[in-house]
Amino acid sequence: MARDCLFCKIIDGSIPSEKVYEDDKVVAILDINPVAPGHTLVLPREHTDDFISTPPALLAEVMPSVHAVAARVMKGVKADGFAVVVFNGRAAGQEVFHLHVHIIPRKEGDGVRLGWPKTHYADGEMAELAEKIRAAK
Ligand code: ZN
Repeated sequence: MARDCLFCKIIDGSIPSEKVYEDDKVVAILDINPVAPGHTLVLPREHTDDFISTPPALLAEVMPSVHAVAARVMKGVKADGFAVVVFNGRAAGQEVFHLHVHIIPRKEGDGVRLGWPKTHYADGEMAELAEKIRAAK
């Protein structure tokens, strides 16, 4: 457990939460400021600060739990769909630095907007960026 980590304290029960699921890998809780009713956070029991610092093997262990929670959220709130979102870093909107996966249930016509503006590349910019990403190791 990381010192002063809000989510580690929720996982160990020293801070109360509304748990909706738990197994040996994760605890899932309702977000206290939901984007939509049933907005759930899946918290790996093992503390890592964010997505990119999480060993891929741990991510692979956690994803089946994310799948199980998403199915329960869908049924529990009678959602028509859901979004799975991970924010990595403050610039992306990450507020708690313990890896967490958002499951945001959606209903047809719910009017929820996830702030996803669609932009366009300038001429040649797309190919240039693709090359930079392919070359990055
Ligand atoms: Zn933690």
